[in-house]
Amino acid sequence: MNSWWSLGDHSGYYGEGPIHRIACPFCMEEDNFKTVAHFEKKKANSEKRLNFDTLECGNCKGYVMTLWSRGEYGELYDCRVLPWPIRLESHPEHWPSDVGRYWLQAKKNLKDENWDAAVLMARSALQLALRDKKAKGKTLKEEIEDLAAKGILPPIVKDWSHEVRELGNDSATLLRDKTPPVLMMLRMLFNF
Ligand SMILES: [Zn+2]
Repeated sequence: MNSWWSLGDHSGYYGEGPIHRIACPFCMEEDNFKTVAHFEKKKANSEKRLNFDTLECGNCKGYVMTLWSRGEYGELYDCRVLPWPIRLESHPEHWPSDVGRYWLQAKKNLKDENWDAAVLMARSALQLALRDKKAKGKTLKEEIEDLAAKGILPPIVKDWSHEVRELGNDSATLLRDKTPPVLMMLRMLFNF
């Protein structure tokens, strides 16, 4: 990105803005913010706007500052948030605790750049998550296909699941690039 005016133009997220996908950096609560200050700067001769929002956590009354913008021509928005959670000590409460434990281990290993361990933990989390969703099959592959056939795994999640399954022998670079989608996939799996 060469300019802040490009924020959201080439990559980002679907949705109305970042407020519902931020975890509080102080108490880790997710999706519990309200906007307490909002400023925007509009690009000349364009509908493009940069939003400068201060959000307040409904749980602990901490604050985060967000800079976000919708892409000039697309449906995506992208954002930068300060501060971000530093400690990785909790997983979303509605997840099964064993899945959450592996998920946290994966994230910690990712942060410490232990790619092999991160992938191993992500695979374990995936396996437990599939079983929690009552997947049937003798192998991880069959379990993924079973849940996909039942419509529980959307196609993109199914593809990611197979990628995780096939990871094992890959290089460190590949592991580093692939582990984040795996963790995102687990999040999606439990939001369905
Ligand atoms: Zn909070």
